[in-house]
Amino acid sequence: MLAEAVAAALICLDPGHGTPPAVGRQREPTGPGSRVYKEKDGGGAAGEAEVALQIAERTRRLLLQRGYRVAMTRTGPTFRYGSGGNVARAQYCNRRKAALMLRIHADGSTDSSRRGASTLYPALHRGWTDDVYGPSLQAARSIQRSLVAWTGARDLGLVRRSDLTGFNWANVPVVLVETGFMTNPAEGLLLRSAAYQQRVARGLAAGVAAFAVSY
Ligand SMILES: [Zn+2]
Repeated sequence: MLAEAVAAALICLDPGHGTPPAVGRQREPTGPGSRVYKEKDGGGAAGEAEVALQIAERTRRLLLQRGYRVAMTRTGPTFRYGSGGNVARAQYCNRRKAALMLRIHADGSTDSSRRGASTLYPALHRGWTDDVYGPSLQAARSIQRSLVAWTGARDLGLVRRSDLTGFNWANVPVVLVETGFMTNPAEGLLLRSAAYQQRVARGLAAGVAAFAVSY
């Protein structure tokens, strides 16, 4: 009974970036009613949008094999849904009543020695994230653990964020994985390789499954 209910859950995958630059430069409120506005899409690290999509596609296949339903905010290089920003990405997953919104990114830094994986989750903010804070933290724990186990990436742990538009507008549990640093020569190469992308995807899918069972 539980297994059937879990198997029917919908996971919303959000490969980061890919917003057309003219739209990406527009600004949007960081939460419902917020006076703070941020760019819809800063563009991400060089090569990140493509890597995020490739990992998302691999994760999608693995989740479908596990019996989940999967929706993706984009399946091509360009994100075109709604008004085209992180509000639209959250609303896309809200509308589908996802069991989890999994945002897939890779990091960038001016310090090319930085490497490792981290998982971001929403800070508690009354009226914005209080409904999703608990399960999001649970998901972050299980996904980070599984991602590190499958990839052997340096474990940079969990990061609580109050400033992410895509978190503050989500009405479903939400996390963002920084799968590694595009700007680290070795890790950047790994992130662009099919074999490592598959390990990342396996880690994400297993982490999602562990979360969905406990949730
Ligand atoms: Zn990013």
